[in-house]
Amino acid sequence: MWKQILRYNFVQWGKLADFLELNSEQRAFIAQSPSFPLNLPLRLAQKIRKGTLKDPILQQFLPTLHEEKDKMGFALDPVLDQSFRKSSKLLHKYCGRVLLVCTSACAMNCRFCFRQNFEYETEEKGFSNELELISQDESIREVILSGGDPLSLADHTLQDLLCKLDAIPHIHRIRFHTRFPIGIPERIDDNFLEVLKKISKRIWFVIHVNHPMELDDAVWRHLELIQKMGITILSQTVLLKNVNDDPDILKDLWENLVDHGVMPYYLHQLDRVRGAAHFEVLEERGKEIMQKISGQISGYALPKYVKEVPGELGKKVI
Ligand code: SF4
Repeated sequence: MWKQILRYNFVQWGKLADFLELNSEQRAFIAQSPSFPLNLPLRLAQKIRKGTLKDPILQQFLPTLHEEKDKMGFALDPVLDQSFRKSSKLLHKYCGRVLLVCTSACAMNCRFCFRQNFEYETEEKGFSNELELISQDESIREVILSGGDPLSLADHTLQDLLCKLDAIPHIHRIRFHTRFPIGIPERIDDNFLEVLKKISKRIWFVIHVNHPMELDDAVWRHLELIQKMGITILSQTVLLKNVNDDPDILKDLWENLVDHGVMPYYLHQLDRVRGAAHFEVLEERGKEIMQKISGQISGYALPKYVKEVPGELGKKVI
C-alpha cells in the first residue's frame, strides 16, 4: 500500500503550483529543473497553506531560484563523506559505528539535504562487500542504516540485510535514520513490523522532523507500533531559517515529541551544502534560541545543538 501512496508524491512543479494555487509571480520563483528534483508526499502538500510560498513545509521542499545562487563555503560534499568511504556504500567515520548508505531513494527530497550530491552506487547490487567489511572489524558495535532513506528498500531486501547484520556477533545495535514516518507513515505496516520482529539485536529509530506541522495523529499511530515493540525512537531536527528558527516553534516541536515518547536527540546546524545557503541560521542565533527554550522545558526534552565539522571524527556540541 505504501508504494501506491508514494506514487501520489508531487514530482512536477506545475502540478504542485496548481494544487497550491500559486500565482504567476510565485511560479516564476520556482526552479523548474533542479538537479535535485522536487519530491513531496501528498499528505505533506495537503498541510501547506494555499497561495503563498511562505509556508514552513513548502520552504523545505520547493526548489526555488535561491538554490541557484552560489555562496562561498557551500560545497557539494559539505561533510566530506567521500573521505570516510570504505566501500561504495559504507562510511566509517565514528568510533565503533559505521553508516550503511542503503539506497539513494527517499520518500521526499529536502532542499537542504547534505547528501543530495552523493554519488550513489548504481552498478553493484546488494551489500555483500559491506557485510564482509563489517564482519571483519570487531570494533564496530553499531550499524546505522541511512541513505537516502533505508525504509525506501523493499521489506524482503531489508529483511535479508537485517538478518545478516543480526548474525554478526560483534554487532550490538542497528539504527534506522528515517523521515518516512513524517511523509508516508503507512510505511510502518504489518510486513515491516514482522521484519523487525525477526531481529534479536537492539534496534533504534531516529526520525527526522523539523516543524510541529509535520506531526499528526497518523504519525503518532504508526510510531506507536514501533514503540510497542520496545524500540526507542529519537528525533533529529535541522535548524532552518524561515522554517523553525523560532523558540516557540522548536519548543512546541520538542514538547510534542516527548509527549509521545520520542526523545529529541540532535538539533543540527545546517550542513553547508551548495544551494542551501538561504536556510542557514547563524550559530549565535541558534544558541540564543536554545538558551531561551532551556528555561522552559524539561532537560530531557532539549536536544544537543551540534554541528559537523568537515574532516573531524565526531559532531561538535555548539
Ligand atoms: S529525507 Fe533525509 S536523506 Fe532524504 S532528502 Fe531529506 S534529509 Fe536527505
